[in-house]
Amino acid sequence: MENQLIINGKRSDGRGPTDLRPLKIDVGIIKNAAGSSYIEHGKNKIIVAIYGPKDSHRYGMNLEKATLRCRYHMSPFSTEERKNPQPSRREIEISKVIRDALEPSLILENFPKTMIDIFVEVLQSDGGSRSASITAASVALADAGIPMKDLVEAVAVGKVNGTLVVDLNDIEDKEGEADMPVAFMLNENKITLLQMDGKMTVEEFKAGLMMAMEAAKKIKEIQKEALLKKYSHDENKK
Ligand code: ADP
Repeated sequence: MENQLIINGKRSDGRGPTDLRPLKIDVGIIKNAAGSSYIEHGKNKIIVAIYGPKDSHRYGMNLEKATLRCRYHMSPFSTEERKNPQPSRREIEISKVIRDALEPSLILENFPKTMIDIFVEVLQSDGGSRSASITAASVALADAGIPMKDLVEAVAVGKVNGTLVVDLNDIEDKEGEADMPVAFMLNENKITLLQMDGKMTVEEFKAGLMMAMEAAKKIKEIQKEALLKKYSHDENKK
């Protein structure tokens, strides 16, 4: 029998279908980095550090714009069972997905022949670590002063016991019928990541996308508050 993950309209962690998990972002936590952030999204705890733009003379370097690189890494103690410290296929894929979700937001033409590195360290993982990483990395890139058209925020929407729910936790991610992470540039009306694991009808897909967009609006407010907090604090120190 299918596991009952929604009882009387409440999810396993007490949320309703459109509620986000608790979300907190801090900016500027790694002093050696050009920009950095720390996110707690549900039980996810993730640090992002940005290095660059730095000059690069590597063969094949892009002469027109900065080259964006990303490394997503889950620490061996981030999951209940010790994770193999070697980079897995999943980590290589998620590194690429995060980079591709962020690249359209950045004005990389300002920095030809340079390299920008995004390091993502997952200290503790819940479901949706790729989405939380994108949300945090966009803030860290802003902290690094990389010019951007818009912040990027990401959240998953999915189907659990036949009900559409937003921001899936670990058990919903693993046992639900569908999981669809989406990243938005809301001001530009653009989607920069859309993945789908499982099945949804076309109607569910459309409704799910709208749910994800509403959640992304709330996430964007928290991103902006985190940046304002850091920079108004720095301003007061002068
Ligand atoms: P996301 O974290 O973006 O939802 P997945 O759907 O691939 O990515 O993974 C779902 C969750 O499964 C992760 O957040 C993590 O909690 C868990 N997980 C992923 N890889 C491992 C692993 N190697 N060992 C144990 N748990 C893992």
